Amino acid sequence: MKFGRFEIETINFGYFRLDGGSMFGSVPKNIWSKRIPADDQNRIRLATRCLVVRDGKRLFLVDVGMGDKWSEKERAIFAIEADEKAKPSFQPEEVTDLVLTHLHFDHAGGVSRLTAEGKPELIYKHAHVHLQHDNLENAKAPNVKERASYLRPNWEPLQNSNLKLVNGSVEIYPDFWVHQVDGHTRGQQWIELRSPERSLIYTTDLIPTSHHLPLPYHMGYDICAEKLLKEKDEFLARAVKQNSIVVFEHDAEVEAVTVKVDERGHYAVQETIALN
Ligand SMILES: [Zn+2]
Repeated sequence: MKFGRFEIETINFGYFRLDGGSMFGSVPKNIWSKRIPADDQNRIRLATRCLVVRDGKRLFLVDVGMGDKWSEKERAIFAIEADEKAKPSFQPEEVTDLVLTHLHFDHAGGVSRLTAEGKPELIYKHAHVHLQHDNLENAKAPNVKERASYLRPNWEPLQNSNLKLVNGSVEIYPDFWVHQVDGHTRGQQWIELRSPERSLIYTTDLIPTSHHLPLPYHMGYDICAEKLLKEKDEFLARAVKQNSIVVFEHDAEVEAVTVKVDERGHYAVQETIALN
């Protein structure tokens, strides 16, 4: 789809499953399971939908999915599966810019693969890597709650890449913005593309699926719920006001939506949008 001066598409690097209770925090199962069904291990199916942005000169890839560095046991725990329909429209060498929303494994696992000797090597070797400074620091010394999410083979090779560390809200390329938020994890960044009419925003884990639009529906993984609620409210108020296209990374069914405030005062889907 054409958006402003960009050409946009999404690619799902595969599905995985996480515990449904963890994904909905304090929302009880008899409520969230009406929105997304849980499997026999109480898990829900999630996508790793990444954004591809072109303008004729640059090719930006936003997040890279789980990657392939998983043991059989881990593949079973997370029910990792490929998306048979997903075929990248580019070669890794063509990616000029890799934008990582944060370095949790389900967003940055695909930055590297294992060599025959079992060492992690970067896949997008020529790309500039755009990341919040705070997130790299966080990944290198994670708190105890996030230790299993920030894996060394994902962040360590990045230190030898063409890293472009940023702080806060930054226009990294004309009409291409990143915005730091810290409630889910310190140094996460959501993505905003601007056109004269509206914006297209990539929510990352601030709002992982369309089912997480109501403010209290947020993940138990979030490190600071109070901060996240404020960031999410500001983000959604802006999305409603600007009639933004909101793209979900983890929604297995819904790619993108516009957002409204419903009759009960909750943020809700106005219409669903297909980007590809
Ligand atoms: Zn995630």
